[in-house]
Amino acid sequence: MKDSSPAGMRWTIRLLSVVLFFLFIWLLGFIIGDINDLQRPNHQSFYDAGVDAELTRAQEEFNASLEGIRVDKARQDGIKQNRSQAMEVARDTWAQAQKVNQFELTAGRLPSDELREELDQAHERYISAQATFEEANTKAANLSAQEYAIRQNLVTLESQVQPQREEAYALYSAADKDHEHTLAIYKLSFIIPVFLLAAWALAKKRESIYRPILKALILASFLQVGVVMFEHFDAEYFKYIALTVAVLIVLGFLVRLLQSSARPRPDLLLKQRRESYHRNTCPECTYSYPDDHGNEFTCPACGTGLFANCNSCGGSRHNLLPFCIHCGSEEAAPAVSV
Ligand SMILES: [Zn+2]
Ligand SMILES: [Zn+2]
Repeated sequence: MKDSSPAGMRWTIRLLSVVLFFLFIWLLGFIIGDINDLQRPNHQSFYDAGVDAELTRAQEEFNASLEGIRVDKARQDGIKQNRSQAMEVARDTWAQAQKVNQFELTAGRLPSDELREELDQAHERYISAQATFEEANTKAANLSAQEYAIRQNLVTLESQVQPQREEAYALYSAADKDHEHTLAIYKLSFIIPVFLLAAWALAKKRESIYRPILKALILASFLQVGVVMFEHFDAEYFKYIALTVAVLIVLGFLVRLLQSSARPRPDLLLKQRRESYHRNTCPECTYSYPDDHGNEFTCPACGTGLFANCNSCGGSRHNLLPFCIHCGSEEAAPAVSV
């Protein structure tokens, strides 16, 4: 099958490693998200504890009274308007009756009893309408006075409650900040060990065929370390801790890289030596040596012993490769001084 060819296989492994990398990010993200669900400080409970309950209750009662007064005032305004209209009607009726009465008097006639009765009644009605209007007016004025007094009380109460509320808010903010720090510490104490364990396993098992899995885990956890740091970066002291951790991680990587470039991995070193011998060049300095080198040959450019007599068969063997080309006996390559 074409897919099982080495190149196809390699690409399949790469693709699956990338998929695994994203799955690891997802999984680690879920766990970190669960840490986020830890109980946050409750805003209201700080106010409940810090603000005098008596004062709060008094405020609520005053506000309820204000609302009642508002409704009463609206009703009283309606009544006032009605009574004002009724009063005007009564005054017009009375004025009309007076005019008729005056007309009779001017004409030299004595107004009839009926007319006098009507005049008296109109006058009485007007007087009574005026009284009810004034009553409504007084009630409205009383309500306004009550409203003013309650508002004054509320201002006094607020001046007592305000400092308590501010103090409660300050306590809440401090608790919230602490909570953020705790979250960051929990998250990092989960994700950093995951990262370090994966890095340690990879360093331990350099030849393991499972390296792609470890690499995916290392990259995913490193990314999550970065995300956690970014989220909590602005917290006052935390940024120093986070930066120190980041520096340590990057330094660790760098040191490993530097070490492995100074001391090449055995398999890479062997590969490099094998290819150099194949091209007739010195593995250490790439000097091209002649085909007709003797049994023993030292690179004239850098002094590395390239060929030597085999300790087992006496034939000429590649000094920097592990096995004799003639008898197959194994000998450790001499340390090369750089
Ligand atoms: Zn050389
Ligand atoms: Zn040999």
